[in-house]
Amino acid sequence: MDSSTFSNESILIKGARKFEFEKIAKRLEERIHQTVLEINLNALVHNLKTYQSLLKPRTKVMAMVKALSYGSGSFEVANKLQFEGVSYLAVAYTDEGIALRKNKIDLPMMVMNADDHSFPSIIEWKLEPEIYNFRTLENMLIAAKEAEVLAYPIHIKLDTGMHRLGFDASDMPALIEQLKSNPELRVVSVFSHLSGSEEPELDAFTAQQDAQFRQLSQQLEEGLGYGFIRHLCNSSAIARHPELHFDMVRLGLGLYGIDGSATIQKQLLNVSRLKTSIAQIKKVPFTETVGYNRKGILSRDTIIGTVCIGYADGISRRLGNGKGYMILRGQAVPIVGNVCMDMCMLDITDIPDAQEGDEVLVFGKELPVTQLAKWADTIPYEILTGISQRVKRIYIEE
Ligand SMILES: *Cc1c(COP(=O)(O)O)cnc(C)c1O
Repeated sequence: MDSSTFSNESILIKGARKFEFEKIAKRLEERIHQTVLEINLNALVHNLKTYQSLLKPRTKVMAMVKALSYGSGSFEVANKLQFEGVSYLAVAYTDEGIALRKNKIDLPMMVMNADDHSFPSIIEWKLEPEIYNFRTLENMLIAAKEAEVLAYPIHIKLDTGMHRLGFDASDMPALIEQLKSNPELRVVSVFSHLSGSEEPELDAFTAQQDAQFRQLSQQLEEGLGYGFIRHLCNSSAIARHPELHFDMVRLGLGLYGIDGSATIQKQLLNVSRLKTSIAQIKKVPFTETVGYNRKGILSRDTIIGTVCIGYADGISRRLGNGKGYMILRGQAVPIVGNVCMDMCMLDITDIPDAQEGDEVLVFGKELPVTQLAKWADTIPYEILTGISQRVKRIYIEE
């Protein structure tokens, strides 16, 4: 196989343990790019099952695969989830949904924020829009009449306190009226989003959102004269608020191995590993500085390892100047000076055996994304979804 001709491909490596397929992965990585994001699909499935074990058997799972599955690359993840029997997928935009449909993902799929002009494509590709106000309802109605569909599935979003998207209590009478007089559409689910499900200090607010959700969804059900799926929980709500599971839960971050609850976190497996390598090693006397603006000030004669990853790959500049670390040969090594666009420099003085070409771990089991998020003063969601598309994704499955 001539792996040097690969470019912009996703690679799925499958095989039984005894074939030591990770060696193949390693060889491919060496040829392709020094920086790769490895996604372990078995770990993803384990995490799905961990959450499923917290649900009643009849509670459905909607897997959130928006933003390229939180940066994990969407087709491969969606394909795995489809195989494992989740009930629904959700994406943010219509084109994300179309891309999955083109790759033979045929699960029911909710589109959370369809562009105004994209409703005809929604129908063409059998996607199901989230309807969150009268404008999106009107757009969908026009497309549905045009396509001459009947009872086309839609999802109604209620605003119960997040104040991002959704219908308010005062919208209910007009919403019911519109839906009843337009048989082109049928409500398959009604949902809302919690603004602080992971925070114990916000449990009272969560309860308030729940009460509002129950009331409005019941009003809708009575007004429409038929039932639908109700859902409220995101990942962290699944463990923390079992009384709010309703008919379905929307599982996002937890699938990718991260949950705010320590008890759940212990049961999850790490899904992604971001790795890079050392391009050059040099000795720099303490009188010198390292990197842009001479920000890397040295306290000793230092051995610098320059690695092939920078802010254009999704490594925040906030990790520079000693805030963040990477792992080289099992040891934490700090970032020296400013993070550059395509590289950054590490102080590897304490790893005398280090060599050019050595693998460096940016995050993974030994250095969780949550730790990186803390150093960069952000949340794991932002780190994961910020890994840029030029970083090769490699999928591992046994
Ligand atoms: C992203 C998203 C989720 C999933 O949230 P996690 O915290 O990642 O589980 C659920 N519902 C909505 C509406 C979302 O946008």
